Amino acid sequence: MSKSTQNRRQFIATSGKAGMALAAMPLMSKINFPSSAFMAANEYAQQPLNYGYAALEPFIDAMTMEIHYTKHAATYAKNLADAALAEKLDTTQTNLKQLLNTISSYSVKMRNNAGGHFNHEMFWQVMKPAPATLPTGELAEAINKSFGSLENFKTAFGDAAKTRFGSGWAWLIVKADNSLAVCSTPNQDNPLMNIAETKGAPILCLDVWEHAYYLKYQNKRPDYINAWWNLVNWEFAQKKYAEAITKK
Ligand code: MN
Repeated sequence: MSKSTQNRRQFIATSGKAGMALAAMPLMSKINFPSSAFMAANEYAQQPLNYGYAALEPFIDAMTMEIHYTKHAATYAKNLADAALAEKLDTTQTNLKQLLNTISSYSVKMRNNAGGHFNHEMFWQVMKPAPATLPTGELAEAINKSFGSLENFKTAFGDAAKTRFGSGWAWLIVKADNSLAVCSTPNQDNPLMNIAETKGAPILCLDVWEHAYYLKYQNKRPDYINAWWNLVNWEFAQKKYAEAITKK
């Protein structure tokens, strides 16, 4: 690796923190940086977890969370930064969603790691310790409208997660016509990618790679999926739903 590559890499790795520091210091706003550029750069970096590694016990064990966050997910973020440098992606001008929407123009490395980074960053937020047990408000109504009942939705989502062959993700999405749908994607693909079979705005996501559950559940993916409902952050899902339907 050349010295300049290393420096640029270091800049990418630390620019997220710089953006956060800038936002926290009003005096610094006199410097003429476009704030949207910092926001775009920041979302390429791994964000701190909102809870401890043991906080999702007993449904997801602390060691799985620690390895998942510090090794698997951290590597996607690092490799995304590497791919961005190699492919001259200006992360201050292209936000992550725009990148995913145009992912077919980039390498497989970019596809795997942009997806891996986006999916995990969402996954951490989709879960919380001791959440509300049921969706409420607009999202609850939309689930009933699209699936008939919450139980029907959970069955459809669980089936998508169980039947995804090999590694991948299950999703609840808002489609272009504002209806809800369940789908799954292989590897680290997601429904924001222009190459996705089913496209839409993600509301919920579930990681069904073995690394997400193997230490506790071994080969019993269905047990992991059933336990995961105890962690679903319905307030976050409602927020994503509201954003998705008002953007249209
Ligand atoms: Mn994972």
